[in-house]
Amino acid sequence: MIVILKHDHNRDQLDSLISWLQEKGIVVHASVGEGSTILGLVGDTSKLDMDLIAALDIVEDVKRVQEPYKNANRKFHPEDTVVKVRDTQIGGGNLTIMAGPCSVESEEQVVAIAKAVKASGATMLRGGAFKPRTSPYSFQGLGETGLEYLKAARAETGLPIVTELMDITQLPLFKDVDVIQIGARNMQNFDLLKAVGHQDKPVMIKRGMSATYEEWLMSAEYVMAGGNENVILCERGIRTFESYTRNTLDLAAIPVLRKLTHLPVIIDPSHATGKYWLVEPLAMGAVAIGADGLQIEVHNDPAHALCDGPQSLKPDAFDPLAKKLLALHDWLKTREG
Ligand code: PEP
Ligand code: MN
Repeated sequence: MIVILKHDHNRDQLDSLISWLQEKGIVVHASVGEGSTILGLVGDTSKLDMDLIAALDIVEDVKRVQEPYKNANRKFHPEDTVVKVRDTQIGGGNLTIMAGPCSVESEEQVVAIAKAVKASGATMLRGGAFKPRTSPYSFQGLGETGLEYLKAARAETGLPIVTELMDITQLPLFKDVDVIQIGARNMQNFDLLKAVGHQDKPVMIKRGMSATYEEWLMSAEYVMAGGNENVILCERGIRTFESYTRNTLDLAAIPVLRKLTHLPVIIDPSHATGKYWLVEPLAMGAVAIGADGLQIEVHNDPAHALCDGPQSLKPDAFDPLAKKLLALHDWLKTREG
């Protein structure tokens, strides 16, 4: 971090700023010139409040030269993180296909979909029990009963389950879930992030609708700072001026995150587009440029789905897609090296 001081500071002010920084474990290199004084701050500056320093009387400007996230930063952890979930691994060259309904609607529904997606090559079952809906009058999910149905589907198929946690009070119910999903609307619910950081179940953080990469990675940092390193990121489309699609899928997130972080990156083409016929081309594109996995909504009867029918694939459309995705991933692997 670099701090540029105003011309009119006096020696006492400068000394007290330097000792305040040193007390925080920062090494300060002061370059005192005729016209300007610049402080180079070395050490763990991630805990320094940049806005607070910028607001000091003697400070003209503050610039970060290092990212504010440390645990999630590839610079301090060059190897890819591989998240183990039961018998599967997310990251590390594997292609994880999470598939299932937007909402769990009944035991029969989720068990039938789980069996179908497993037969097609999916490696995890997704399904919402607690649903974040824009309208309070829309179906809100089956809650705890929905979790029980997901577990029944896991018992039938062996597929690990990923499902959304909306509130800290629900956490005790998630003890037997395999991956906790933090939804886009909760990406900056910092108390929720802290709570999932203090337990060891893998956490998948979906990108907030208007979150920058840095804000998203700071959310991962919240979880990791609590001691939980099993974090997965999921790009699900961001809000732009385009209204034809539900959101705009930011595929650049894959190479950008690959550079900035060691955490696995999953793409959700269903929420990104809102249209079932756009799921295949965007899922293929995501695999082509190196996604670690996909999260795809599959429903046995999309026309009557209680949530997100228009973006859901029927099992017979998901089947050839899953096979194409796995074939593309295998082919890309043969070209590595
Ligand atoms: C979901 O996956 O069911 C969901 C609500 O996604 P998002 O948080 O990305 O909108
Ligand atoms: Mn959905």
